Parts: sequence; structure tokens; C-alpha cells
Amino acid sequence: MREKDTHHLRNDYLKRIRELLFPPRCPVCDEVLGAQDRQRLICRDCAGKISFIHEPRCLKCGMALEDETEEYCSSCKKRRHIYDSGLALFEYSPLRTSMYRFKYSGRAEYAKFYGRAAARYLGEQIRKWQPEGVIPVPMYAPKERMRGYNQAELFARALGNELSIPVYNDIVIRRRKTSPMKRLNARQRHVNLKNAFIIGRNDVKLRRVLVVDDIYTTGSTIDAVAAVLKASGTEKVFFVTLSGGNGI
Ligand SMILES: [Zn+2]
Ligand SMILES: [Zn+2]
Repeated sequence: MREKDTHHLRNDYLKRIRELLFPPRCPVCDEVLGAQDRQRLICRDCAGKISFIHEPRCLKCGMALEDETEEYCSSCKKRRHIYDSGLALFEYSPLRTSMYRFKYSGRAEYAKFYGRAAARYLGEQIRKWQPEGVIPVPMYAPKERMRGYNQAELFARALGNELSIPVYNDIVIRRRKTSPMKRLNARQRHVNLKNAFIIGRNDVKLRRVLVVDDIYTTGSTIDAVAAVLKASGTEKVFFVTLSGGNGI
């Protein structure tokens, strides 16, 4: 047997052991996926439960519009954003517990499903934006070490991989701890994020960037990342998030 074949066999074998120990699970109900569902990365029942955010969407933040005669949502009418435009993928409520497990319960493997879904549903628009790189919203390093991963980065890597766009996790870094944004109003969010991000390396200059995060609420975080990128010469900043909406 040639060395290459043995190598393949060993990889196959390791993959099977890994699947026995950590069988792939449905990202929505968390049940172990049956053989037929493994290609789809989601079980049949749940595939019918999830829904994508669809038109009419706000031209700026991409969130669902209630009134299709409007171009912008009420939030974007009130406030100017630093980013150029963006889109969220899933409606929030069916994916809520999935995203929670992805973020806090070590279900890093969901990233593959999320990345593929984003590439399929939003890939055409992302390609039109022509991003030269994908930048995940960074976590504060000590916090990331505690959690073991940055969920935004896992999603960014899965998406970048599907669309063959390089992912950079060191161009923007978070240099200090920020309070959870949930209970803060827009003004407090702005203060909370002030100077939170800095450019970590300047040997890579990207003119067009896709910023990736898990949830979009007011856009303060994406704006804060866009601000440091634009100050360092990036011309266009777009974003994709797993989910989003006002008031979540
Ligand atoms: Zn399921
Ligand atoms: Zn909007």
C-alpha cells in the first residue's frame, strides 16, 4: 500500500472515530443527525422551521421592513452608519437557542451549517460587494481564551471558506473589555465601544471588507469596527451577521 493511501485511510478512520465520539448534531434541535441528514447539516424537521430574512429589507442595515414602500428602517432613518451596508441571514426567533448554544455551549460545529447557509442565501450579494477580506468582530483575547473560541470568527471562517475569500482575525483587535450591550441604549453603546477596537497589523491593506458577527442589533459594534478600518484606509465596509433585528 502506498503511503498516500495509508494516510487517507488513517484520516478516514480518525474522522469516523471523531464522529462516533462527537456525532454531528442538528444546529436547531441539537439531536444527532441521521446519515441522510449529514450532508444537509440540519435535520429534515428543522430545515422547515428556520426562515431567512427576506425582502423587503432596509437598504442600509438589511433588516426586514414592515412597510415595503419604505427604503430604510426607522432606526437607519434616525442615525447615520459608518459601515456601507449589510445583511443578516436568519430570522431571530427560530434560531435563538441555536445561536445561544453556538456562543456559550461549545457548539462550534454549527459554524459549518451557518457558513454554508450564508454562502447559499447571501453569496450573490456578497460577491457583488467584492470584499477582499473577511474580518470577524474580534473578542477581547482573555475572554476568547476562556470561551475557547470566538463564535464570530468561526462563522467568518466557514463563510470565507465557502466563498474563497481570505479571513483575517488580526487586522482589527479588541483591546479592552466591553460591557454586554444588551441593556445599553444607543448613546451608552457608543461610549462603551469608544476606543475598544484598534488596527492590529498594517501590512495588509484591504480596500473592501466584509465584517462578520453573530447578531446585529443597533449596528454600534459594526460601526465601531468600520470606523477603525476606514481610518486606516479601507474604502468600503459591508457586514453579514447570522441574525438581527431591532429590539432583540
Ligand atoms: Zn433538528
Ligand atoms: Zn436599517
